[in-house]
Amino acid sequence: MLLHIGIDDTDSPNGMCTTYLGALLYREISRIAEPLDLPRLIRLNPNIPYKTRGNGAVVMTFEAEEEVIPLIKDTVLFYVNQLADFEHENTNPGVVFFEGEVPEELREFSLRVLREHVTIEEAGEVARNVGAEYFKFKLGRGIIGSLAAIGYPLEKFTYELLVYREPENFGTPRRVNAESVFLADKWAYPFSYDNVDPYKRVVLITPHGKDPVLAGIRGIDKARVLQVFESVEFEEPVAFYQLYKTNQNTDDHLTPKKIGELKLYDSAVVRGRVAGPYWERGRHVFFELEDETGKIRVAAFEPTKKFRNWVRKLLPGDEIIAAGGVKEHEGVLTLNLEKFYPVKLVPKVEYQKPRCPVCGGTMKSKGDYLKCKRCGYKMPKKLVLVEVPRELERKIYEVPPDARKHLSRPLVLPGGEDKILELL
Ligand code: ATP
Repeated sequence: MLLHIGIDDTDSPNGMCTTYLGALLYREISRIAEPLDLPRLIRLNPNIPYKTRGNGAVVMTFEAEEEVIPLIKDTVLFYVNQLADFEHENTNPGVVFFEGEVPEELREFSLRVLREHVTIEEAGEVARNVGAEYFKFKLGRGIIGSLAAIGYPLEKFTYELLVYREPENFGTPRRVNAESVFLADKWAYPFSYDNVDPYKRVVLITPHGKDPVLAGIRGIDKARVLQVFESVEFEEPVAFYQLYKTNQNTDDHLTPKKIGELKLYDSAVVRGRVAGPYWERGRHVFFELEDETGKIRVAAFEPTKKFRNWVRKLLPGDEIIAAGGVKEHEGVLTLNLEKFYPVKLVPKVEYQKPRCPVCGGTMKSKGDYLKCKRCGYKMPKKLVLVEVPRELERKIYEVPPDARKHLSRPLVLPGGEDKILELL
């Protein structure tokens, strides 16, 4: 019998990680049942407010004998009871078991959880309809992610190898030799990516929280990911590690929409015209984008750093394709930019001093007249309209790796442009 196990919402900023619990369970259950493939780490809607970090849920599937299924279920519930961070008010674990082939209704539910907002009640109803067994701890919000992870059609995927710490090191600074990460990355990039930020010269594989993860190594090639792991020098003991299959960096969250259709917590790709000049507040850069159905505020927030310079180069009237998540910022619905592509740029004109009509030299302003720097010719100050080059290219601009959503596909990977180009 096929048994799918979904787990979510076991962690808090104070500790734990659902992947850690999942990795322990995967090892434990593999002793009594046959795992079908690797465990899967499924990232769901990145815009919902309840998430601790990356809105990840864990799912694993086993071929299990009928008589061991009760033991497997008891083991899962026991681990969640023992390890979830129940103290934190925003931790509301949910566990779902589903036996047999995944039905269409569950697939559809899963894509809704990825792209929209759903309630605990809706998840309960879908679970009952498809015959899934669910267990709620506290509010049990985790059943949304657990059920969605089971139904997730993981057609495109990448890998992440998660390396875990010994419990006595939880909460202390992570000790990993930075130079070894740079060396490993040089050799493996882009088959394994996001290991370092070469511009800031920082290591990206180590998280910063109190969770049990020592490092996460991502890639599209399993062998390279494993080889990066072997080349990195860990300067504290590695408790164990687990390779996950994941929908990270697939752009699966993005759906093409009209601006008028955008709702809170959507992730979408839209095409529209820049409606006015950009403005800045608190180092965030904003502008408005419109199409025939409506207008939305678009933001490049401070953590996107240099990406904001490209946004500042947009002019009213420019036509762009923009991808991102819809959130509320200061009470206004705002598209949080992940990528954009300039489709059609308006000409940029500026008033400039003319060249010297006698010798072609550069003119200098002298009060209300102009004087040629080369031949001294003088003429009344009359500026001329000149078209100046636009500094934006015909290419997709993306946020830097440390500001990128887990689901967003970096341009360096094949297919990183697809979701944008669909709207061309
Ligand atoms: P980590 O990445 O470290 O595992 P997290 O960011 O995944 O942490 P969770 O603790 O899993 O955060 O919390 C996310 C919660 O939001 C879960 O309870 C999940 O069921 C719920 N959830 C996920 N997607 C949606 C959605 N589309 N609508 C409503 N609730 C959702």
